[in-house]
Amino acid sequence: MSTCDTICPGLASAHVRAIAPYQPGKPISELARELGLEEGDIVKLASNENPLGPSPLALAAAQDALYDMALYPDGAGFALKTRLSAKLGVATNQVVLGNGSNDVLDMAARAFLTAGTSSVYSQHAFAVYPIATQTMGAQGIAVAATNYGHDLAAMRAAIRDDTRVLWIANPNNPTGTFLPWSEIEAFLDIVPPHVLVVLDEAYGEYLPPAERGDTTAWLARFPNLLISRTFSKAYGLAGLRVGYGLGHAGLIDLLNRVRHPFNVNAPALAAAEAALDDEAFLARSYALNTAGMAQLTAGLAELDIETVPSKGNFLLARVGDAARINADLLRRGVIVRPVANYGLPEFLRVSVGLAGQNARFLDALRAVLAAPDACGRKACL
Ligand code: PMP
Repeated sequence: MSTCDTICPGLASAHVRAIAPYQPGKPISELARELGLEEGDIVKLASNENPLGPSPLALAAAQDALYDMALYPDGAGFALKTRLSAKLGVATNQVVLGNGSNDVLDMAARAFLTAGTSSVYSQHAFAVYPIATQTMGAQGIAVAATNYGHDLAAMRAAIRDDTRVLWIANPNNPTGTFLPWSEIEAFLDIVPPHVLVVLDEAYGEYLPPAERGDTTAWLARFPNLLISRTFSKAYGLAGLRVGYGLGHAGLIDLLNRVRHPFNVNAPALAAAEAALDDEAFLARSYALNTAGMAQLTAGLAELDIETVPSKGNFLLARVGDAARINADLLRRGVIVRPVANYGLPEFLRVSVGLAGQNARFLDALRAVLAAPDACGRKACL
């Protein structure tokens, strides 16, 4: 009898078979099961989540929305789009909502990429760009990074006649690298109009106020610009899945054509709206991240471990044999993210946590570096 193992690969196109699946951070429950640890003893600094949890206003709004769970959500997301439009100074038809900003990135690929087209992204850039590109059967063009970040001149040179999308993450994940907005603005001026530039600002809220860009003001000048943002990071709503895209009304109209109906659920819509009002929570998230980043940077420097300067809520640490050190950290109940799949086999990416979590990571790393095999293959708390 045939099994899917024999039949299914043949059913999928070659470009789907070639996709390297997205590798999420290891869930706490999984590590607890594997090593027989208590979930409460595990520290996860692997998915760039907000260690403060959600804003209490967002939590209350999501809880209220649960009473209506028998009903479909507002498929047009009217209330959240209206709120975003007022806050950002764009029209409501310039906003598209996504099931996380991943969904917005995917809509861009679905609307603009097909077999015979290509998209351009940087080496070490966010993994969803190649995945979304390959899903559509388009060709991905990875441009060599400079100092772990985007080399805009090389990316411009890599654009071909068949290029339809170019992805820029600023700051980028997993490297945390950042390009001054003036360089991106100058780049937009010279990008040919047949290329949609997706400017991924997932970590924008972690930038120091003086380095935040007024990129929404560019939308009037660049009809081929799509800005994507998320409520998953500084707003603390990663589990609800809500993000948004901003662009010219004509561009947003195209994305809405490929958007799945009811792609953002009702608690997520309500929580996002409430989170936008909670400026105090956002300020706390920012301050905690700044302090935690300083703590991690100093702690890693003390251990003589090189880091890549980061503007996100995470930091790349050059630990050497990252696969082994990651395994040893897991045995000590600390989950961080190996990034060999990003072409960075010597690095681990650590998300900024609460002060105690950061300290726990640094202590575990110190122990691992001092006595690599002390715990054998078992849990070692
Ligand atoms: N862009 C970048 C650069 C990211 O790091 C992430 C999250 N890992 C996303 C987009 C997507 O996040 P979400 O779908 O939760 O908005």
